Formats: sequence, C-alpha cells, structure tokens
Amino acid sequence: MPELPEVEVVRATLEKELAGLTIKGIDCTYEPIIENITFFKEKVINQKIIGIKRYAKYLIFMLSEGAFLSHLRMEGKYFYVDSSYPIAKHQHVVFHLSNGYKLIYQDVRKFGRMEFKILGEVYTTPPLSELGIEANSKEYHLEELYSKLKKKSIPIKSLLLDQTFISGLGNIYVDEVLYNAQISPLRKSSTIKKKELEAILLSSQEILNEAILQKGTTIRSYTSSLGVTGNYQNYLKVHTKKECPNCNKGLSIIKIGGRTSYYCRVCQR
Ligand SMILES: [Zn+2]
Repeated sequence: MPELPEVEVVRATLEKELAGLTIKGIDCTYEPIIENITFFKEKVINQKIIGIKRYAKYLIFMLSEGAFLSHLRMEGKYFYVDSSYPIAKHQHVVFHLSNGYKLIYQDVRKFGRMEFKILGEVYTTPPLSELGIEANSKEYHLEELYSKLKKKSIPIKSLLLDQTFISGLGNIYVDEVLYNAQISPLRKSSTIKKKELEAILLSSQEILNEAILQKGTTIRSYTSSLGVTGNYQNYLKVHTKKECPNCNKGLSIIKIGGRTSYYCRVCQR
C-alpha cells in the first residue's frame, strides 16, 4: 500500500508529465472508482491540468477550474503512455490527453477513489477536512494533539494509523517511527507523555522526509508504475527485519489492530 512518501513520488512524477495538458476525454470501466461519474466528466473534460498537489495520501489534480482528488488505497497506480498502448485488465480509468498520450489508472483491488471538488472546497470539505495534520509537517500543535491522545485508550500504533489524528502514516512508517522514538507500539495512547509524543512527531517528520528523498520504499506491497524505484527499503530498521540494529536481540512480530507490527521489546518501552 502506498504511504505518504510513495504518493509524493507519484505526485512529483505525474506533475512533470501532465502539467499544461488538457483532458480531452475519460473512459471508465468500473464506475464506483469515480464519485458521481456524469458530473465528474462534465467538470473535468476540456480542463487543463495546472499542477498536482498532495495532502497526506491524497493526490489533488489542480485544474483550470476546480480540482479532483485521487486516493490510491491498496493498489492504485498511474501509467502515462502514448496512444498506441493497449488497455489491460484492471486498468479502469483512461484520461485522454491533448498531446495524444493517455493517463491510465490501474487498480487490481478497485478500492481507489476519485472525486471532483470546486476549488474553494478542496480542503474545507470531507475527506480532506477530516484529516489530521500531515505526519511530516512541522506545523503541528503539540498541546492539541496531546489532549486528543490523552482521551484514547487504544494502542499508540493504532492511534498513529488513525488518519483523523495525524495523516499520512501507514503500517511501514509507523513501525519505523515508534522504533526511532523508542516507544512500544502496544503502549496505551493515554499513557504517552508529552515529551514522548514530541519524540514521535519529530521521528515522523525525519523518517517521512528521508523516505521522500529516497523516493519511497519499494517492497512487496507496492511498486511504482512510473519507472521510479524507491530506496528507503534499504533504510528500514525494524519493519520486515529480524534483529534489532541497536541491541541485536530478535524483533517481536505481532498483530496490532490486524496489522503486522515489528518492534524491539528491549529498546522500545
Ligand atoms: Zn533493541
């Protein structure tokens, strides 16, 4: 599943190719991917792509009038190809572009979603209005997050995966962040001290921003379609690993909220 760094890589790669092009037509073979498809086509066709932004794990295609959001969920991928490229199975949405190229959206699991927004409502309406501050942002409000955290009895790992608390962290990076902050993923959120929350937030910025520089993580669960191979898998310290790089003890592998979690029982308290 693509997390914030991988979505950022998709954003940057797509923006380079698509900025300035006009969407001339849209074919969709699996309609639930696009919210209100008739309206979407009406609003998006003949619009120029000005640029592509991102908030947490959402791509925001900025158009000359309005924008559309795209969330890749589990397996969503974009391909930018010339007109002779044949459409394959699982390629559910095709945007025909003014230069004759196609932007293809492929989604084996079909969980991805797209939705048109008028410009003034991109950030002020759901889903973006419901998201917490981005996990790599320096703009967080420590007191506010701390008072939210105090009311939660779920494990800290589950809280960090809750996108309304902070947004953009997924399973891989949460394991890395909690290891870096030396906090057990099983700790009840309400027992986390303010200093520890601060350590989590700083680790989160550091790790996500480094992962963006390394163009994301390429592991079994996600490979980019755009010819970009991430290198952050070489920097992972605990996720998918066997031994703690600090104390050399075997890592614990457990399920927390259904998610496979790696941590060191010695170094993380
Ligand atoms: Zn250790």
